[in-house]
Amino acid sequence: MTEITIPTDLLPHDGRFGSGPSLVRQQQLDDLVARGRDILGTSHRQPPVKQLVGAVQEGLATLFRIPDGYEVLLANGGSTAFWDSAAFGLVEARAQTAKFGEFGGKFAKAAAAPWLQAPDVRDAAPGSVAFLEAAEGIDLYATPHNETSTGAMVPVHRVDAPGALTMIDATSAAGGIEVDISQCDVYYFAPQKNFGADGGLWLALVSPAAIERIERIGASDRYVPDFLDLTNVVANSRKQQTLNTPALATLSLLESQIRWMNELGGLAAVDARTRESSGILYDWIERTPWASAYVANPEHRSQVVVTIDLDEAIDGTAVTAALRANGVVDIDPYRKLGRNQLRVGTFASVEPEDVRRLAASIDYVVERL
Ligand SMILES: *Cc1c(COP(=O)(O)O)cnc(C)c1O
Repeated sequence: MTEITIPTDLLPHDGRFGSGPSLVRQQQLDDLVARGRDILGTSHRQPPVKQLVGAVQEGLATLFRIPDGYEVLLANGGSTAFWDSAAFGLVEARAQTAKFGEFGGKFAKAAAAPWLQAPDVRDAAPGSVAFLEAAEGIDLYATPHNETSTGAMVPVHRVDAPGALTMIDATSAAGGIEVDISQCDVYYFAPQKNFGADGGLWLALVSPAAIERIERIGASDRYVPDFLDLTNVVANSRKQQTLNTPALATLSLLESQIRWMNELGGLAAVDARTRESSGILYDWIERTPWASAYVANPEHRSQVVVTIDLDEAIDGTAVTAALRANGVVDIDPYRKLGRNQLRVGTFASVEPEDVRRLAASIDYVVERL
């Protein structure tokens, strides 16, 4: 393959467009260096780290304008660990789950635990979306807000089913898409997408009804491993702690990003920013004959993960390789989707101007391949 050198005036200033882990802003790194000596290498049971955890909790409460009585929980293990915690500690007997990609599918699998009834899985083909729907015998309804593997998003609405909980996997949506938290009981995420931190933690905004469910199941005779026990998480989170040692650098990166988002104007401001960034790509797709949006329905096209199908005459792997050689990285499609596709993270940290440059860089490469 001939080498392609993209001219500097077309190249994005920052070439990180991954869908997670994603771009970490320089200010987050500078903050980490500045307070590193007070935080890194110190006990997570002492005031400096507990204050940092408290700042994360307060910052998220502000960012999401959480309703009275809602709490901010956090624990180790990322969203993947949270799935198992939810199967142990939030599903009473049977969940309904929406599955329209890999991540929704993974919670459906966790909810198929032997102590529960088989979940009611509402399945839709990747590229489209599935919706939750009130049904008999369901005590928890779960859906991704944004399905990162396909770039499809759905609105957050509480399922009208008295006594049941609505739980949202917001791992890639949180901090990038506007949401009314009163429309759900559990809104959980990890910090390595819009929050531009590192992986390994999960956070959740939970309603009083969800806390009550956690306590009720915790008091029952269901076996729950300590590490996944949500009653532990509630107790520790109220003390600005985690059961076991958290990654302190992650907390610092996360706190910086939440502060930046709140200073920018909160969720409305980051929502406008990701809309602008993704809109640049959707407009570019419209005028590019060899590119099309993978998600057919414009209403379901994600504003934080843009998936672009390429004409079969264009070798997507060669395009991503040429871009990578120029420092523009991680726009490969989700591995298991197996499509001739590009997938671009347009999370809060990404500069819209860099998305314009990305489109110009892709054009430049395709013209020369
Ligand atoms: C990234 C992602 C996950 C997995 O998060 P981990 O922290 O790696 O476990 C889960 N759900 C969605 C929607 C994601 O985008």
